[in-house]
Amino acid sequence: MCGIIGFIGGEQAAPILLGGLKKLEYRGYDSAGIAILENGQIDIAKSKGRLEILYDKIDGGRSFHGTAGIGHTRWATHGEPSDANSHPHRSRSGKFAIVHNGIIENYATLKAQLQDKGCEFASETDTEVIAHLLEQNDTGDLLETIRRTVAQLEGSYALGILSEEHPDEIACVRCASPLIVALSDGGNFIASDVTAVLPYTRHIYQLDDGEIALLRRDDVTVYNAEGRRIEKELKTITWSVAAAEKGGYEHFMLKEIMEQPQAISATISPRIGNDGRIVLDGISLTKEELKAFHRIFILACGSAYHVGVVGKYVIEEVARIPVEVDIASEFRYRMPLVDERSLVLIISQSGETADTLAALREAKSRGARVLSIVNVVGSTIASESDDVLYTWAGPEISVATTKAYSTQLTLIYLLAFYIADALGRVDTLTLRHALNELIALPDQIQKILDQAPQIEQFAQRLCYLDHAYFIGRNLDYAVALEASLKLKEISYIHSEAYAAGELKHGTISLIEPGTFVAALACCERLFDKTVSNIREVKARGAQVLCVTQQGNEAAAQQADHVFYVPRTYPLFMPSIEVVPMQLLGYYAAKARGCDIDKPRNLAKSVTVE
Ligand code: GLU
Repeated sequence: MCGIIGFIGGEQAAPILLGGLKKLEYRGYDSAGIAILENGQIDIAKSKGRLEILYDKIDGGRSFHGTAGIGHTRWATHGEPSDANSHPHRSRSGKFAIVHNGIIENYATLKAQLQDKGCEFASETDTEVIAHLLEQNDTGDLLETIRRTVAQLEGSYALGILSEEHPDEIACVRCASPLIVALSDGGNFIASDVTAVLPYTRHIYQLDDGEIALLRRDDVTVYNAEGRRIEKELKTITWSVAAAEKGGYEHFMLKEIMEQPQAISATISPRIGNDGRIVLDGISLTKEELKAFHRIFILACGSAYHVGVVGKYVIEEVARIPVEVDIASEFRYRMPLVDERSLVLIISQSGETADTLAALREAKSRGARVLSIVNVVGSTIASESDDVLYTWAGPEISVATTKAYSTQLTLIYLLAFYIADALGRVDTLTLRHALNELIALPDQIQKILDQAPQIEQFAQRLCYLDHAYFIGRNLDYAVALEASLKLKEISYIHSEAYAAGELKHGTISLIEPGTFVAALACCERLFDKTVSNIREVKARGAQVLCVTQQGNEAAAQQADHVFYVPRTYPLFMPSIEVVPMQLLGYYAAKARGCDIDKPRNLAKSVTVE
């Protein structure tokens, strides 16, 4: 999530920091700020909105004369985008200033403890607790102070730190958020990625989790989590600026596919409590209110609608409440039978999707309670909903969604079990088992990502296709919808998704020798039925790829190609089986030479009807 830059050297730091933040803009952000150390004093400038606003406010940084400082572009997770919530944040006395990327999962507990000690908070962020903790743990030794502070943190963080008592140093530390240290003759840098420093240097240290670096004007010392000095390998970056933005991947879409394990962890781990129960922060719905709902509506567009289709199967099965899922642009004009006994779930990555917003307003005007699943904090859908669950996927840049889709799915699973638990419809053992499988999901997905080269090889054969069909039953059908959309939107190969049993009611007439059919067969209870459908299309000459769980040998006998995926809790299989389908779409589009991150005629956030 978002951007950090820091500099200590022989030149005025502020213009360098602003230049670095400009290079990090592509990562997505909603506010920006810098802190400069000058004569043992920290000065801060920050503001909501584009970097230009900050730039104009401080005359391009010219009025700050210090030669050490830190800068930040924020992608809000805790607290809406605002001047007060923008980074840097200060400690109580003001002697520490910090910038942070990531999420502090135990911030609420830490905040309460600090407040009990009389600490006042100037923002709603999780980050501010770190600034106060630094002051509380201050031993006079910066390294030791940081070690004591990070020992109290749970979650993900990359931190840039200034201390008025250490005017010749800037410090940084990371855990599960990216951070590098870069060395140049004119001074030293910290940065979220190399793009910010490429104009100055190509020599970097890649910090590992737990490592702390202290930077001075002409030297850098790195320590491990135990506080022992370590020698890091100095790497030389050979990437072009464009490749560096994509973290070395050829496209943002591939980078985002690869980020899914981390995005899913960030979304689920803060929501599973130590007692093995689900904690849905920010949800004010009481058990009684949940009990009173007669029906749940899920409203969304595009891939988010496909998440809704999964949601219908999962929520109905686990929580035993009827669920209607509808395309937002249809719902808004169909005189829906929604009332105050309805819970309406709205799903949108951007939180600005015009049709989805209109559907939300329609539902609210009919008295429904609205809970939204959104990626962008403070977006219109988030602010107009009664309750919001944020997917912590970080900014998604590729038009074709992958990590936002995957994190939306995991929130749907959590919500289904949360409702079921509240209504007493799931026993403790099942709940525990399901949550353990959910926690293991990122590792299972990683196993598929590790097989990307094999999927690429297979996808290269698809690039000459004119048509493709995706079939499946139940949850496999829901994934088929997304798999088909992924392929068509970026590769421009015509594709359709069908409930496997529905083919014989018309579409099977399109199957001829050589037609490509992908059969998703991860729903074990319906596996034999899907195999029958595979036989039907094979009999008419189709070339069939079957995606199924490891060990399902029957599939190998029926299909021309098989892609085996790891097992998980049956209702979570969509999260696993969609991954090879994303890669299939991506590599087919790549083989066809398509403009993958910006497919023709499409926009990332659809703010028109
Ligand atoms: N969680 C922090 C916030 O909301 C940092 C977000 C970021 O990575 O930009 O302020």
